[in-house]
Amino acid sequence: MTAITQDDLRALAAFQGDGHPVTSCYLDVDGSRLTRRRDVADQLARLLREGRAKADGRGSVIEDLRLIEEYVKGGIDRSRTRGLAFFSSSATQFWQVVELPVPVQNQLVVNQSPAIRQLEAILDEYEPFAVLLADRQYARLVVFDLGEIVEVRELFEQLPRGDDVMRGLDHGRVRDHVDELGHQHLRHAAKVAFDVLRDRSFGRIIIAATDDVASELEPLLHPYLRERLEARCALPVNASLDEIRSAALVVEAAVERRKERELVDRLREAAGSGNRGVAGLVPTLDALAQRRVDTLLISDNFTVAGWRCSSCRMVAAVGRTCVLCEAEMHQVDDVVEEAIEEAQLQSCRVEICAENADLDVLGGIGALLRY
Ligand SMILES: [Zn+2]
Repeated sequence: MTAITQDDLRALAAFQGDGHPVTSCYLDVDGSRLTRRRDVADQLARLLREGRAKADGRGSVIEDLRLIEEYVKGGIDRSRTRGLAFFSSSATQFWQVVELPVPVQNQLVVNQSPAIRQLEAILDEYEPFAVLLADRQYARLVVFDLGEIVEVRELFEQLPRGDDVMRGLDHGRVRDHVDELGHQHLRHAAKVAFDVLRDRSFGRIIIAATDDVASELEPLLHPYLRERLEARCALPVNASLDEIRSAALVVEAAVERRKERELVDRLREAAGSGNRGVAGLVPTLDALAQRRVDTLLISDNFTVAGWRCSSCRMVAAVGRTCVLCEAEMHQVDDVVEEAIEEAQLQSCRVEICAENADLDVLGGIGALLRY
């Protein structure tokens, strides 16, 4: 599986074909819905037809489509891959395939740069996170990336059974001793989590434990981990990996929606008071052109046509002459896609919000500003 990071996305956003077209293709190969190979072949054929129409006779695009077709016909491991993203510009020998464990929406775009919007939405939705399950003698850390389990660590430190080991000690001292061992175990569990975080960064951690264990464990976490602590859930420490995965994805989606709501609330206040926030397409694209954007917020279903400057790459709602450099702009089907690319290039945070009616009311797009 090709791991994809924000850095990869930035590199894609930065790619320019020196005037040559770039073909981007997202192909859904999700085996849970597209059960027959034929289903995938039909979808591919439809996308290739669409691509040939968009190629408009350009040999480089025709070659891109041929490479994509060849790749898919070469076979895909659909037990692991549910979505594919291709970025190709044959004229400059640029070719990149991303295999994703999550489904994508079929899409074919011919443009001057790679169409990264779907990848951005996926990375945003499926941030790497960890679940730490613990009781007083067993702990498991499960790390997820793109919704899949990528690492599991286990730690078992059996507590002594009081009557065997502590013969001769009074009950109070036995209890203290067992409590101390349990506490030590939780400290070890916290250390395992921190060690894993250092090798493999994850943005969020969820604790699965009873309330009393969770309250004892949380203060033992390294401050870096405590900062990333987002939720608790009630999974038993010996839950199956499938159970952990299902429960964790539900918690993670709820956390993601909560983060989005908090950001949209901040946006509404900032835009309402005119202090470090703008809402709506034109003000947001203006802020982006002025390089003032800290966080770009977008409704996941918001799409609108617009313009992009072929010379300085400015993104605008209205064309056709660039207000920055006076060059001629070209029309684009989805100016939000261009805004996301530009935001990536400027290292802005991009938040794609699902089902957020408040953001829709604000115009489907907005930005928190650096100044
Ligand atoms: Zn320009």
